[in-house]
Amino acid sequence: MGSVRPSLIDCDVHAVLPGIAALLPYLSDYWREQIAQTGFKGPVDRWYSARAVAAAATIKDEIPASKVEYLQRDVLDARPELQWAILNYDCAVETLHNPDAAAAVASALNEWIAAEWLARDPRLRASIVVPSQFPELAAAEIDRMSGRPGFVQVLLPVRSAEPYGSRNFRPLFAAAARHGLPVGLHFGGAPGNPPTPVGWPSFYLEEYAGMTGVFQTQLISIVAGGLFDTFPDLRLVLIEAGVAWLPPMLWRLDKNWKGLRREIPWVRRLPSEYVRDHVRLTTAPFDAPDDAQQLREVVAQLGSDSILLYASDYPHAHGEDRAVTELEFLSPAFATRIKCENARAVYRFEP
Ligand code: ZN
Repeated sequence: MGSVRPSLIDCDVHAVLPGIAALLPYLSDYWREQIAQTGFKGPVDRWYSARAVAAAATIKDEIPASKVEYLQRDVLDARPELQWAILNYDCAVETLHNPDAAAAVASALNEWIAAEWLARDPRLRASIVVPSQFPELAAAEIDRMSGRPGFVQVLLPVRSAEPYGSRNFRPLFAAAARHGLPVGLHFGGAPGNPPTPVGWPSFYLEEYAGMTGVFQTQLISIVAGGLFDTFPDLRLVLIEAGVAWLPPMLWRLDKNWKGLRREIPWVRRLPSEYVRDHVRLTTAPFDAPDDAQQLREVVAQLGSDSILLYASDYPHAHGEDRAVTELEFLSPAFATRIKCENARAVYRFEP
């Protein structure tokens, strides 16, 4: 790190599992035998994802984010001011219908992350992978992993079979709250239902651009479900969600809460107040206008200088670091909050 003062926390970098073989050392004899002798080869879409990343790689045969050396070269060493980076492995565990398989794969992934990534670079932190479709099993994995060095968050795919505010998910959130861990909702997921409220889209572009609607649905559900009253210490981080959609959604939610709040009497404050106190969003992608003045207005509409967390989303390219550099130009103090101070607060990192 040299003489450069640590001033950057990257709240979203990724690892790519090179294949199911990498998990074998962390699975029981039973699951090793299942993988060797049956058609079960782990979550369904990770290998496609790995091939897609490989196809896009600029260096032949190198899969970005598949080795800690690549992450060090491309992110950790490339930014001398970087103090920590949080590894989010979006592993499609939610695609598994066998609860024992989902629990076993999630546990193996967490052990793989601990041994192959966290143990090899002190700047890395990680999220806990859980079988989110089985909330009781997810809670057990959170209990098992909490307190393990370097694990700072519970990771959920933003797409789920029903909204996370449903009482069915309460054991999962109770476990996160019990251990003081933020819950991160990350772009994507494949729980089996359509990614839009009106059925299956024809093209991935529709799903990709429309994912903000899923984030909105989850945020409304979590507020309406009363999770922030039930668990006053719960922090929610929306990762790779964009940010510009939030102010108009909150305006609408506040307005309608005033008319319908008798239905949800446990929600005792304006929804926007819960969001200000409990919810954070990462900056990549930053879906704000290019014009500096308009950018300043969008950020002001978010209503809090604590709400944004810097993220690169390595190795997924969104085209720029523009949001952070322009915010620094507009307000150095605000940029410092986004780049490190807000993450220190939500993840309770020591300075
Ligand atoms: Zn990401």
